[in-house]
Amino acid sequence: MKRFIFAIIIIALALNNAVAQQTAITRDKGYVIVLHGGAGNISPENTPPEKQAALKSALNQALNAGKKVLAKGGSSLDAVVAAIRVLEDSPLFNAGKGAVLTADGKAELDASIMDGKTLKAGAVAGVTTIRNPIMAARAVMDHSEHVMLAGKGAEQFAKEQHLEIVEPSYFITPERFKSYLKMKRQDSLQKAKGKFGTVGAVALDKQGNLAAATSTGGMMMKKFGRIGDSPIIGAGTYANNDACAVSCTGHGEFFIRYVVAYDIAALMLYKDWSLEKASDYVINHKLKAVGGEGGVICLDQQGNIATPFNTDGMFRAWLKFDGKKEEMKIALFKE
Ligand code: ASP
Repeated sequence: MKRFIFAIIIIALALNNAVAQQTAITRDKGYVIVLHGGAGNISPENTPPEKQAALKSALNQALNAGKKVLAKGGSSLDAVVAAIRVLEDSPLFNAGKGAVLTADGKAELDASIMDGKTLKAGAVAGVTTIRNPIMAARAVMDHSEHVMLAGKGAEQFAKEQHLEIVEPSYFITPERFKSYLKMKRQDSLQKAKGKFGTVGAVALDKQGNLAAATSTGGMMMKKFGRIGDSPIIGAGTYANNDACAVSCTGHGEFFIRYVVAYDIAALMLYKDWSLEKASDYVINHKLKAVGGEGGVICLDQQGNIATPFNTDGMFRAWLKFDGKKEEMKIALFKE
């Protein structure tokens, strides 16, 4: 009996220690935000210096929007939404304003968000009038009993949630329209391949909670109401405090079939792989072997960051505050 009580005390102490350790790490760790602005055939040769500067400035602005939330103790969910709104409002990325156009010359937008603490999630797909689809995804998570709303229904819901509604033409920039006309002459989805540009964010807040979010116009010249991986939880977006937060960009059909975001988390959960090993394996081995082009941004509760991609480039940025000092990086191409 004595031995039994002794064992119980030892287990209780160990558990208590584990929790205390985790609390201490969480409290001291500060916060992290990681962004992507799409992957594809992006190289210094096909990105003029002014465009490189504009992209970096927009990514910097988005990092700061996320940091503003995280620094004052806000949630990782609020931080990813704040950062993605900046990128959706920028005409430079394939999300919100500046989204690529469908074969009919329209912008059809997809977005999703996931909370790593509760595993709650929200998504919208194929929407054409919601200025910031990521806010609609968040509203689906917070204020509906569903995970994904599509098309007209999602737009009706967004209206009821008092989100900003715009004319479909708001999203169409002269640059996107020009490349649409060019593609249309070539009349080929094939030609549009390799041109991505979705935006995504993952964050870790001071409370140790992870969140992930993704927003996109999908693939250029898409037809028939095609939906990609970005609004699909587990494919384009996933967050679980016990594993990691992931946002994907690339050829969505592959990311859906290989359940990429969840696969990375599952390798960590079930095989105990590190964030780096799991994400590298999925992107640079599994996907690459079958021609699935793209990349991911990933973050775990310890603040480890991984941003593997198997394309020429991926617009990416991160900011990390470990409790004492801040580190930051913005990169566009392979290093
Ligand atoms: N993954 C997105 C899609 O297939 C495209 C992208 O990442 O740019 O819809």
